[in-house]
Amino acid sequence: MTLPSVRAPRDATDVLRRVFGYESFRDGQQEIIEHVAAGGDALVLMPTGGGKSLCYQIPALVRPGTGVVVSPLIALMQDQVEALRALGVQAGFLNSTQDDSARREVEAAFVAGELDLLYLAPERLRLRSTVELLDRGEIALFAIDEAHCVAQWGHDFRPDYLLLSELSQHWPQVPRIALTATATPATHKEITARLGLENARHVVADFDRPNIQYRMVPKKEPKAQLLEFLRTEHAGDAGIVYCLSRASVEKIADFLATNGIAALPYHAGLDARVRAEHQARFLREDGLVMVATIAFGMGIDKPDVRFVAHLDLPKSVEGYYQETGRAGRDGLRSTAWLAYGLQDVVQLRRLIDTSEGDAAHRRRLGHHLDAMFALCETVECRRVGLLAYFGQPRSAPCGNCDTCLEPQQSWDATVPAQKVLSAVLRLHRERRQKFGAGHVIDILLGKRTPKVGQHGHDTLTVFGIGTELGEAEWRGVVRQLLAQGLLTVEGDHGTLLLTDASGEVLRKERTVSMRREPQRPAKAAAAAKN
Ligand code: ADP
Ligand code: ZN
Repeated sequence: MTLPSVRAPRDATDVLRRVFGYESFRDGQQEIIEHVAAGGDALVLMPTGGGKSLCYQIPALVRPGTGVVVSPLIALMQDQVEALRALGVQAGFLNSTQDDSARREVEAAFVAGELDLLYLAPERLRLRSTVELLDRGEIALFAIDEAHCVAQWGHDFRPDYLLLSELSQHWPQVPRIALTATATPATHKEITARLGLENARHVVADFDRPNIQYRMVPKKEPKAQLLEFLRTEHAGDAGIVYCLSRASVEKIADFLATNGIAALPYHAGLDARVRAEHQARFLREDGLVMVATIAFGMGIDKPDVRFVAHLDLPKSVEGYYQETGRAGRDGLRSTAWLAYGLQDVVQLRRLIDTSEGDAAHRRRLGHHLDAMFALCETVECRRVGLLAYFGQPRSAPCGNCDTCLEPQQSWDATVPAQKVLSAVLRLHRERRQKFGAGHVIDILLGKRTPKVGQHGHDTLTVFGIGTELGEAEWRGVVRQLLAQGLLTVEGDHGTLLLTDASGEVLRKERTVSMRREPQRPAKAAAAAKN
């Protein structure tokens, strides 16, 4: 069958309907597409499943030349290209999985101007031959997918992405569109700076997923708790259970199967064939439960995943959001269920401490973990906390998360919150200085550390005003302030910064309540079994 040529239409809405078969644009899409089609640069922050692909695919079809898409997801390129070809779009890819003749064919098509879209792995751009190739064809635009990979601050940093900062020097006239599902203010800022997108159109979509119910429960008997959750709420439903290690994936998959639940394991240690088969079955069959490490899920587009369960604490809020975002893409009611314990934090902390990379990198991982843990601890609406983390303040509780449905025990932490915030404020106002949580807490506790002495911080009015709490409790307060968007951290040193909302607390216009933390000494927590 010959498909109608897609090169003729030149209008974005026309392409949307004739090529992709959709009636109308989603929120944000039209603005971006028209801007890039007209030659402008853009930065798009949109949740997984929000419809980012069309934002570069349509402008690539509307503009003369080939849209060059840089993506780290090599395993998905072939599927993406085949899906586009099925729609009649001329697409190709260049990556390390391909043999020479396939590569030459794609290169020839590009030079001849026959390609609408060309997908590239970022490391390709390191090759002179790639740059020479791109110089021989006409480029409609550069799309930088998974753009958070350029940010050191992100959870998925890739050095090859730094090459992308040179695109605009070599091809100044070619529009660039960067896309990511990670929208924390710190990552947003870093992508903008590294890719030189200060003058680009920035579009931040709504990250709320109202049909997902968020629940986080303290971990007691994780296997029994999971089974109870599945049996009472999701019998016969398709879903994903995430575990931290390959060993626990195997163990939980066996446990569920023994208990009459159709479950399959998925992790990077399994044979590639087995993995592919389990993935295909999960997509095709109804009501399968995939027990997996986070190796599973990138690019999986199964609309009726009814639940995502975490048996271990994710390492970051970004990861949690992305993983839970695989539930309920069809818009129907779904559950994001998580069991967490202090032992998770202890274990992840240890992984961080022994991980490769420099001290700054480890500190960053620590901050990611703190924010995730704080989200577990919050007494406020989970959705409010989640969206605040992504820079989307929302004042009304959602009514569709566990803390909204069954309010938690809490304490009025307004005064301690004011103390932390005024310490940060004083350091900034009076000394033009920024510090991380450790030093701010030392100041509140009135500790005469060498750093305190060196900066003369014992003369600050906030010095020693916080002796009513211990260091661990202050850390809890800081973590919860981060989770509530009343503080943010920035940069390699995790320096604390006030947010717009901090002022409300400092001016006593707003109270702060926090989840009461379990009274357990740190040693007992470290010794607790999983
Ligand atoms: P993302 O890359 O943001 O995760 P995708 O681009 O893969 O999301 O889009 C998610 C799903 O939404 C895809 O199945 C896509 O075809 C569909 N989609 C995107 N835009 C529209 C639209 N305007 N109308 C209907 N469906 C759309
Ligand atoms: Zn809520």
